[in-house]
Amino acid sequence: MAEKTTSAIRNPASPPQEVIIFGSGVCAQKIARNLCGHGISACLASGADAPPLRGQGVGAQWLRGVELTACRGFAGNFELKLRQRETFLYRKAPAIVLAEDPHHAPAYAPYGLKPGSRVMSISQLEETRGDLPAADRPGGGTRVAFFCGWENDSHPAVARRMLAACLQLQQHSRTSTYFMTGNLKVAARGAEGLVEAAKRSGTIFLKFTRRFPTVQTLADGHFKIDCPDELTRAPFQLETDRIVVDETIGPHPRLEELARRLEIRQDGIGFAQSDNVRRLSNATNRRGIFTAGGSRGALSADEQMADADQVALNVLAFLKDLGADTLPGMEIHRGRCARCLTCHRLCPHKAIEIGPHMSVVSAACQRCGICMAGCPARAIHMEGVQIGAKIKNCIRKPTRSSGEKGDHLQVMVFGCARSTGQARALARLSGQPLPSGVRFVEVPCGGCISSRHLLTAFEAGARGVMLCTCHTDNCQSDTGNRVARRRAQATGDQLTAAGIEGDRLYVTSVAANMGTEFVAMINGFAERIRALDAC
Ligand code: SF4
Ligand code: SF4
Repeated sequence: MAEKTTSAIRNPASPPQEVIIFGSGVCAQKIARNLCGHGISACLASGADAPPLRGQGVGAQWLRGVELTACRGFAGNFELKLRQRETFLYRKAPAIVLAEDPHHAPAYAPYGLKPGSRVMSISQLEETRGDLPAADRPGGGTRVAFFCGWENDSHPAVARRMLAACLQLQQHSRTSTYFMTGNLKVAARGAEGLVEAAKRSGTIFLKFTRRFPTVQTLADGHFKIDCPDELTRAPFQLETDRIVVDETIGPHPRLEELARRLEIRQDGIGFAQSDNVRRLSNATNRRGIFTAGGSRGALSADEQMADADQVALNVLAFLKDLGADTLPGMEIHRGRCARCLTCHRLCPHKAIEIGPHMSVVSAACQRCGICMAGCPARAIHMEGVQIGAKIKNCIRKPTRSSGEKGDHLQVMVFGCARSTGQARALARLSGQPLPSGVRFVEVPCGGCISSRHLLTAFEAGARGVMLCTCHTDNCQSDTGNRVARRRAQATGDQLTAAGIEGDRLYVTSVAANMGTEFVAMINGFAERIRALDAC
């Protein structure tokens, strides 16, 4: 008698309702306020460097000066260990939000400057609220030069702040402003209007593209700026009393450690969200952990406020749906499992729990099947997904009516339902059926195809096998396409070792809108297989 499988699908019965929000800036506060307004307890957790909360009525607890030292558990039931000086705090949370402010670093070095009483960053200028000390220029008045994105473009959000501050100073009756820029991008909302308003108010805009000004500090602390003129080639000089430099924006220094502890993927810059076009704007690779505002690279104040509203809605929807899982179940067969931990290592969504028995946490699992294909003991089963049976089934049932000339199995195509499945449907709708002799096996993710599946297709008589995944950085399960390629590479090596041309196994990527290209790829591959057969 087959041993009973584990009751692997588990949902927390009554998750505690305190959402932990890392950060305490305006975005984090707004998320907390939104959640509290819907009756969800929230707790802000920020580093020691966090400024005091501004404004009233956030309604959430605030833990200041804490660091995350450990996180266990899964969506709906995270357990966090936090350290506040010498004390450890423990929190349970159904959901976590990363909402750290972005980190601003003044860009002195690119302009050959050092910070000083007359050289300041845009953040420092903003803190003065436009109230610069009077200059000691004969006749009064102050000249301020803004240095914005010379050789490296300034981020649009920073350029907008520079423009707004410049306009504010220019409107001060005794201040003259010079906006010295490289390739000024006015993509941020309202930036173009600020440029026009500043010009009308008297700001002088100077643009440099190939050669840039040099700055000399005079004995009295003022600056002489030698400017090349790219049009007339006649250099000119400016004297200013103050210089304001732009800033680079990047992830908050705490984010790297938070992402590591929470097992969240970061993008190439370090923001807490991988470069994945399929992912909802506030989602991460782990269900129940969200990212917002400066933590995901939304850097302007407008974007951060919009993000705060969006992530609060996402968290509310997530909490509402907890326990109402309608996706197919995943089971791990206790008797077969050898506790090799391969599934735990492979799961891109961190949904495999190591307990007395290995189990899949339903609330965290996204049904990609990567673990299933990687399990050496074939102990993992996804309800309703039996790829081996699908292969056999489509061999028995040709795509065209049995007996049609030329419809013997020639090429078997495996494709991810999210991309290739859509492309195939598109091709069908536009009257482009798959060519004769081709069988298509749709799977939840390219990563759920194992070497065994590929070899089974060859054993069944396929002369060529094609594996279609999503494009790079486009896999909803992050690693599914890369895992699929690795497995196909290993299978190709096995084929070659067995004296079969490795070219009979072809891996490619397909996007959902590539209906025509998908059919063309299959035709091209089938042609190559026919040529190999003819050799
Ligand atoms: S990969 Fe398979 S055998 Fe290994 S721990 Fe996971 S379920 Fe068990
Ligand atoms: S690898 Fe995919 S199917 Fe397996 S547990 Fe993780 S999310 Fe679920």
